[in-house]
Amino acid sequence: MSGKKALPATSLSGPLPAAGPADSADRNDRHSFEELARHAARLAIADREAAVTEPPRPSASVADLRALFDIGLPDDGRDGLEVLDRLAAAARPGLIGNIGPNFFGWVMGASHPVGVAADWLATAWGQNAAIYATSPAAAIAEEVVAQWLVDLLRLPPESSVGFATGATMASFTCLAAARSEVLRKVGYDLETDGLTGAPPISVFVGEEAHTTIFSGLRYLGFGRKNLVEITTDTAGRMRPGDLAKKLDQHHRPKIIIGQAGHINSGAFDPFPELAELAGSHHAWLHVDGAFGLWARAVPELAELGEGVDAADSWAVDGHKWLQVPYDSGFAIIRDENAHKRAMDTTASYIAENPGDGRNPTQYGPELSRRARGFAAWAVLQALGRNGIADLIGRHCRLARHLAIRLSAEPGITVINQVALNQLAIRFEDTGLQADADLLTGRVVADIQKQNTSFVEQAVWKGRRILRVSIISASTQEEHVDRLAASIIRAWRRAKANPTAR
Ligand SMILES: *Cc1c(COP(=O)(O)O)cnc(C)c1O
Repeated sequence: MSGKKALPATSLSGPLPAAGPADSADRNDRHSFEELARHAARLAIADREAAVTEPPRPSASVADLRALFDIGLPDDGRDGLEVLDRLAAAARPGLIGNIGPNFFGWVMGASHPVGVAADWLATAWGQNAAIYATSPAAAIAEEVVAQWLVDLLRLPPESSVGFATGATMASFTCLAAARSEVLRKVGYDLETDGLTGAPPISVFVGEEAHTTIFSGLRYLGFGRKNLVEITTDTAGRMRPGDLAKKLDQHHRPKIIIGQAGHINSGAFDPFPELAELAGSHHAWLHVDGAFGLWARAVPELAELGEGVDAADSWAVDGHKWLQVPYDSGFAIIRDENAHKRAMDTTASYIAENPGDGRNPTQYGPELSRRARGFAAWAVLQALGRNGIADLIGRHCRLARHLAIRLSAEPGITVINQVALNQLAIRFEDTGLQADADLLTGRVVADIQKQNTSFVEQAVWKGRRILRVSIISASTQEEHVDRLAASIIRAWRRAKANPTAR
C-alpha cells in the first residue's frame, strides 16, 4: 500500500526486513474500492433479478460445489475483480432461491433490498459493535432500533434488547437472564457462586418447542432431566391444564418457555393462561416468537398475540418475517438488570463509556461483532409501521387463500387451522392402497422436481407433511397460485399412478 511508511530504524531493536516483495502479495492496489464495490453491485443486481425468474432449487451437487470452490489456495493473491467473479461463479449454482417470491421452504426471510444495501454500508464502514467506544454510531443505532422494536411489538417499554445472530442465540440470551434471575430470587448468586452447587431449576417447555430451544438450554447447563415437557393439543399448543398440574408438582425455581408461532401450524401457546400460571408460581416466562411475534405488529392479528406481553422475555428474528438480511435476531428482556447481569463482559476499557451511550456487549454473548443495528434500522425505516403490518397481514391472507384452494381438491387436507402464515398439508386417498406418508413424500418430491416453487417436507406428530411458509417479502397471490397449481398437479399424478416409486 502506498500509504505504508517504514518506521525510523531507531524505533526498532532489530534490523528492518528488506522492503519490497512483501507488498506484492496484495495485488489490489490497482483497484480502487469504487471499482470493487461497483463490480460487486453489478453481480448482486444480476443475481437479485435472476432470483425472481429462476427455479428456486439450486442445480449443483455436493461434488459440483466442492469442485467449483476448491480452486486451490494461491501462493500469490489474485486480482480482486477476478476473485469476485470466481466467487460468484462458484456460489451461483449452489444458491437457494429464498430471496425470490416462489420460496416456501422452512421459515426464512428474503433480505429486503434496502436492508441489503444498508448492510453493505455496515460492512464497508467496518465497524465493530462491541462497545460504545468502538463504534458510537453502531451503539446508538441499536439503542434506537431497540426502542422501535419494543414499541412495534407492544412489549413493556422498559425492556432491553440484545442484537443476536438469530432466534437461537436470542433465546439463549433470554434464558441466561432467566436462569440468573430465578436463582437470585431464592437468594443464590449465580454470577459469583456458579452453576455447580446451585439450587436445581425446573424448565417447563411444550413438547413441540422448536429444537433450538433445547440447544439453548443445553448450552446453559440444563439437561433432559431438568426439563418438564408439557403435552400439546392438535395445533401444537401447550395444554395449560397439564402445565398447571406439573407446576404444582415442583417446588424449585421455575422457567416456562412458550411459543408464539409453531413452525407447522403457526399457532400461539395460550399466553393469557401461561402468564397467569407464571405469575402465581413466580416463574420466568420466556416466549420463542422467532417469526410469530410479528403478529403483534398487525392490528387485525391482535387477538392471536394476546397476553404475550405479560412474559419476561421474548426472542424474535429480524431475518425471517421482518426481512432484515442474515443474520439478525433480537433478545428482548423486561428486566434490564437481569439481562446485563447474565451477559456481563467486564474489562477496564469497557468501563470507560462516554456519556450514557450503550455498550452493545452488555446485551449479548459477543464482544467484537458486526454492527447489526444498521440493517435493522434501514428495514424498519423502509417498511414503516404500516408496511410491516401490510406485509404480515398479506402473508396471512395468502395462507388462507392457499388453504381454500387446496381444500377444494379431493384428497388434499390442510391439517392445521390457518391462523398465521404456515400450512401443514397431507395427501390421502382412501380408495388407494398407498399410505398417506408415502403419498405425501411422493407429492413433495414431484413439486421439488417441477421446481417452480420451493417446498420442503416435515414430520409432525409422527406424520409426514408438506409444510408451506408464506414469508418472502415479494410473494403475491400469483406466486401462491403457482404453488397451488404445482401441488395439485403433483397430487393428481401421484393418484393416477399410486404404486409407482
Ligand atoms: C427459526 C426458528 C427458531 C430459530 O431461529 P434462528 O433464527 O434460525 O436461530 C426458533 N424458533 C422458531 C419457532 C423458529 O421458527
